[in-house]
Amino acid sequence: MTSQQGRLIIVAGPSGAGKGTVENAVMEKNPEIQFSVSVTTRPQRDYEVEGEHYFFISKADFLQRIERNELVEWQEVYSKNGHYYGTLRSYVDAALEQGKLLLIDIDIKGGINLKKAYPDNSISIFIEPPSVEALEQRLINRKTDSPEQIRIRLDRMPEEMELGKQFDYTIVNSELSEAVNAFTEILENQIYQQQRSI
Ligand code: 5GP
Repeated sequence: MTSQQGRLIIVAGPSGAGKGTVENAVMEKNPEIQFSVSVTTRPQRDYEVEGEHYFFISKADFLQRIERNELVEWQEVYSKNGHYYGTLRSYVDAALEQGKLLLIDIDIKGGINLKKAYPDNSISIFIEPPSVEALEQRLINRKTDSPEQIRIRLDRMPEEMELGKQFDYTIVNSELSEAVNAFTEILENQIYQQQRSI
């Protein structure tokens, strides 16, 4: 045990809200934050490193881990061709035990479930785009989605924004630097100040 309490920083939001960019900037500013590595059945991308971005496993392996209760939460993410993503209980518990600050990038429903599993050791942050129009523009500029995929994502927005109300904090990502400042302020108030007072 360390004297410092580990904490989970759960981050979710509609795809295209720019959560990855905000997270990377926050982690660059706060190098003590560790990125949480999930397991997934989706294929590895060229730039991804095993054990750094994800642990890439087969569907059979994933299903066995569900059976053995090794995943604290998991989701089949439909926008990713039905691939499975999950958070390893042992990984999260070890990080908490070691007093680490773990940033968990997760889909919206997974984020809500994870918060329920660790209510006292986590804060949850929802990153949202400034408007549906801004999201549409970002998805068009990103050039990774077909027009139908973009339509599906936009149609899903109202439900996602509703689920977003279950998060502890919401950050509107209009301007990256402002979103990063808002994120840092939450960390300062909710984590660093408390650690200093222990
Ligand atoms: P990508 O395939 O683009 O890396 O991620 C697709 C989605 O899966 C993202 O929304 C990401 O946040 C989510 N995701 C990543 N890891 C996990 C996890 O462990 N559990 C859940 N529920 N979602 C995850």
